Amino acid sequence: NSFDDFKLNKQLLTAIVEAGYEQPTPIQQQAIPLAMAGHDVLGIAQTGTGKTAAYLLPLLMKIKYAQGQHPRALILAPTRELAMQIDAAITELAKYTDIRHLALYGGIGPKAQIEAVQKGIDILVATPGRFSDLYSRGEIVVKQLTTMVMDEADKIMDMGFMPQIRKILEVIPVKRQNMLFSATFPPKVEELSYEFLEFPMRVEV
Ligand code: AMP
Repeated sequence: NSFDDFKLNKQLLTAIVEAGYEQPTPIQQQAIPLAMAGHDVLGIAQTGTGKTAAYLLPLLMKIKYAQGQHPRALILAPTRELAMQIDAAITELAKYTDIRHLALYGGIGPKAQIEAVQKGIDILVATPGRFSDLYSRGEIVVKQLTTMVMDEADKIMDMGFMPQIRKILEVIPVKRQNMLFSATFPPKVEELSYEFLEFPMRVEV
């Protein structure tokens, strides 16, 4: 029961130690090996369980370093606050890599976000509304996406983002790894998981 049990690289292990994580939480123990093996993951876990690192560490292992112009991973979050928190967690865990990441959310003008995307980006963390907006303006190229995460999927559904999600799923590459995390698993989230995940491995804490 140690982070050394996972095949994480030195950069990530050093950042984990500096973040003060001594051992993986139960959701991390379950989800990290499955995600690193390439499975789709359905995670039922509340905030406070370490769910963010449970999907970020495998994602950061896969993305590894800055490469190309267009995003290879997309993380959707229901709110600006959560998008910012996830982006801050990436800053912390990816600090010994050159991975380029950015949070996209509404409530501010899109200009600075568009400019940052144009400089080249590896991971986008976004609310569905702002992502759809920038995508429909032609500012985001999705053809390089290989990994997609939905965090707090129950809240994404509650906020009525299903139409935007459907449109995003229509345009992103079919061959990709997906992870969905949700605190609860009501019928709406189950329906979303059927549309979004392929042969998911379910983990729950
Ligand atoms: P989350 O459930 O992802 O919102 O994480 C809750 C808090 O737990 C965050 O402040 C994380 O930095 C912290 N955390 C995540 N994983 C670990 C771990 N393995 N050991 C100690 N703290 C952790």
